[in-house]
This record gives sequence, C-alpha cells and structure tokens, in this order.
Amino acid sequence: TDTLLNVSDLSVDFETYEGRHHVLNGVNLTIEKGETVALVGETGCGKSVTARSIMGTLPRPPGEITSGRIDYRGADLLVDPTEHERVKGEEMSMIFQDPMTYLSPVYSVGSMMADVATYSGSNDASWLDIARNLLGQRGNKKEVRERSIELLERMRIPDPEGTLEKYPVELSGGMRQRIIIAMALINEPTFLLADEPTTALDVTVQDQILDLLREHVEERDLSMLYITHNLGVARKVADKICIMYAGEVVEVGDTEELFDAPLHPYTRGLLDSIPKLTGFDGDGIDGQIPDYTDPPQGCRFHPRCPAAIDGVCDAEPPESPAIEGDDSDRRVTCHLYDDEMTLNDAVAVATD
Ligand code: SF4
Ligand code: MG
Repeated sequence: TDTLLNVSDLSVDFETYEGRHHVLNGVNLTIEKGETVALVGETGCGKSVTARSIMGTLPRPPGEITSGRIDYRGADLLVDPTEHERVKGEEMSMIFQDPMTYLSPVYSVGSMMADVATYSGSNDASWLDIARNLLGQRGNKKEVRERSIELLERMRIPDPEGTLEKYPVELSGGMRQRIIIAMALINEPTFLLADEPTTALDVTVQDQILDLLREHVEERDLSMLYITHNLGVARKVADKICIMYAGEVVEVGDTEELFDAPLHPYTRGLLDSIPKLTGFDGDGIDGQIPDYTDPPQGCRFHPRCPAAIDGVCDAEPPESPAIEGDDSDRRVTCHLYDDEMTLNDAVAVATD
C-alpha cells in the first residue's frame, strides 16, 4: 500500500470560558492513494475538528493541538508550516456543506471559478475560504475558461457556457453544490476533503452528486476524506469507514465488511438506528455525546454502552486491536476485543 495521509495520535483541546475542552483524544486515520475514506459520527464528535486540523484551518487559539502527527506523503505537516501551506495550496482541496456560505452573491460562477484558479493569497471572507485552500496554477484567461467549462460538463451541468455567466441565486441547490465541487477540482488536487457536502440536498440530488464525485475521484485516482453523519452516504461513497465517537476513532474497516459485521457497540448502535438500510431493527443509542470539559474516564462511550464491563470500561481506556478479516483488518477500540481473535470470534463476541 501507498499511504498518502496518516493522522496519528492527534489530540486537540479548546480553551473557552467554560474551561478546557478535550475534544480530540488520540485520533488515528490513514488514507491510501486512490482511496476514499468516510469519517462517520454524530454532530459534535470531532469530525470537523479533525478536518480543520488536516487543512490547517483550526483556529489557534482557542484550539490547541496537544499531541500527534499529520503525515502527508511521509512529512509531518504539524512541524512544517511551510510544507503545510504548500500541500494545502497545491494538493488539497475542500468541498463544503453549504454553497451559499461560500459562493459570493455578487460574482458570476465564471468569475469565481477564475478567481479560485488564479488565486494568489488574499484571505478575505466567504468564498475566498475555498480559494485559500487552492493556491493556483495561474492559467491564462482562455485556459481557465476552458478548464471551467470542462469541469461543469463533467459535473453534468447543462449549458456550461451559459452557467458561467450566472449568479448563485439563479441556480438550484443541487447545481450550486455541483459548482462548489467543480471549483474544488479546478486546480487538480490529489486529495479532496468533503465535509457533509450533500446534507442539505434531497435524496435524489444527493445520490446524483455522490455518483459524480465518486466517478471523478475514480477516474483521476484521487484520494478523498468524506465526512458525514449518514452511514448510508458513507456506504455509497467510501472504500473504508472510520467511525468516530466523542473525539476518538472507535472502529475502522472496509466498508462492506463493516456493514456485514459491525463490532464496536457504538457502530452497532448506529447501524441499529437505520433499520431500512441494514435490516437490523433497534432503537439507536440512548444518551448524548459527553461534556468535553470532563469526558468519562476509561472508554468515553461507557456511560452509553450496553456492553460496558464494570470496573474495566469506566477505568481503563481501551486499546485498538487489529482483527484479521477476509480482505482487510478491522480496528476496534474496545475492551471486548483483542488481536488474538479472528473476525468470526469477534462477531461471536459482538452478537453475544
Ligand atoms: Fe463498551 Fe467497554 Fe467497549 Fe467502551 S470499551 S465500547 S464501554 S464494551
Ligand atoms: Mg461538522
């Protein structure tokens, strides 16, 4: 395998008037070249904080990275801000959730795309946030226009030339999201980071956009980190899934293997809460994400966990043993499992 991005032991605190929030607690995450990984968890679990740490857009303060590494092609970006800027500019690109926040109402689609393509370093607000991550190959006007049209075509936008003249308010939500994606692709990134880009769209439009994104990622052999709270979306888009709970990655596995045999009690609860998709039927998980100023000792999930072991789960943080599966290993951060187990043994424990 050929690792593009490796986040290891990443911990992030936020200092506020309420106290110190221990938000990320030793996050591990690996993305191979050409791989799409979904980072899945409830609102507030630290997905976006992880994304911002990778993109170098974590506000510091109040955020503080207290441990860990973010290796991109083997170089730790956290100790090399110059390299982080270069990678952000030339190789990484972000796709955002809400196009209207990032598209300027007063510029046409064409001029925004041209600005992103030739961006040189201002950090004005709103849609320039995108540009900040897309330091430009400075193409000439004609070439940029051709590239814009080609990308709009790829995103199956009818009448690409006419669309370049349009303003965001003249377009539907689905069209705006396609344009956001086209903008993120204009500088030919190798790594895409998508933060819940389809959440606001209806299911049909969402599916179309996921298909387009997936198609482009496969054709260009891009790597992608796709952040979502929706396991169904994750299943459609990702080769590998990382389940996150309360600032920790609790289970990582091949997408289909994870859906076939979820191991972590939290993953099992998440799957139970979407009966239509999986055939399970259950009631989801009671309770809510803990207070990060005073997170639970031991396993952060123990107050909500139906399988918690008294005196163990509330005392000792679990390790993350690797459990050998058919095609790939599963990692599961939980006291119920150890790395002597086969996947069959582990399934027997999970369903006990
Ligand atoms: Fe539940 Fe214990 Fe596993 Fe945490 S370590 S998920 S509390 S069984
Ligand atoms: Mg978020």
